[in-house]
Amino acid sequence: MSARASYPQLDEDAQAAVDRVVANMQRPHCKRLLFITGAGISADSGLPTYRGTGGLYEETDTDEGVSIEDALSGAMLRSNPALCWKYIAQIEAGCRGASPNRGHEVIAHLADRYEVWVLTQNVDGLHRAAGSSKIIDIHGDVHTLQCTSCLYQVVVDDYAEVTIPPHCPKCEALVRPDVVLFGEMLPSEKLKDLSRELENGFDMVFSVETTSVFQYIAAPVWIAKQSAIPTVEINPGTTEVSQIVDERITHGAALSLGAIWERLEHP
Ligand SMILES: [Zn+2]
Repeated sequence: MSARASYPQLDEDAQAAVDRVVANMQRPHCKRLLFITGAGISADSGLPTYRGTGGLYEETDTDEGVSIEDALSGAMLRSNPALCWKYIAQIEAGCRGASPNRGHEVIAHLADRYEVWVLTQNVDGLHRAAGSSKIIDIHGDVHTLQCTSCLYQVVVDDYAEVTIPPHCPKCEALVRPDVVLFGEMLPSEKLKDLSRELENGFDMVFSVETTSVFQYIAAPVWIAKQSAIPTVEINPGTTEVSQIVDERITHGAALSLGAIWERLEHP
């Protein structure tokens, strides 16, 4: 039986792409991998796809008549915390009970063989739940809550025990999630981590089910391309980086990464 029989769900082009990707991963000097992940990888865990921090919503306006971008903005958190928190809580509710899928698991397992960094737009914490440790969650994580006034911070499994909007047990100021709301700057520490690791260089860069609309999400792919570092896109659809990557696997993250793992295990 051929090794390819272990992932027959992929079409022939994708199977051939997986073989080439794995051959690249098996080069002796291939040690550092970057996985850039977006909403699609979490969709395989049953999560709604997000657009930025929001994007749970088909309609553009909330019940309150403001756009979801305005409701989930830093300005709204300050002016009307209850309204902002209502929609933050909906994001958490969308994540609640979700487990990492095969895509998250394979990225976590690969850390046994490679130095693996994850740059994710997702705020659901599923990479951490799967066991990845080198994570740059550039938009934050809804499960980390912090006081807007003092240094109080807490990590929660979910918001079941959280009174919305929450207040600090130490100083009673408003508590917020450690996520980037609309109109807010990206966290400078995480941007520093990202540029440091990009300077250290990667041996392969994977863009996994992200739309790559944000410059800082697409840039590592462009940088790799300019340096002749192999680039891979895993995405059933086309994105801004589809035209420049070396390999495209046009299936979902769980299936595609599962196939890569099978091929690595059964060369
Ligand atoms: Zn406080």
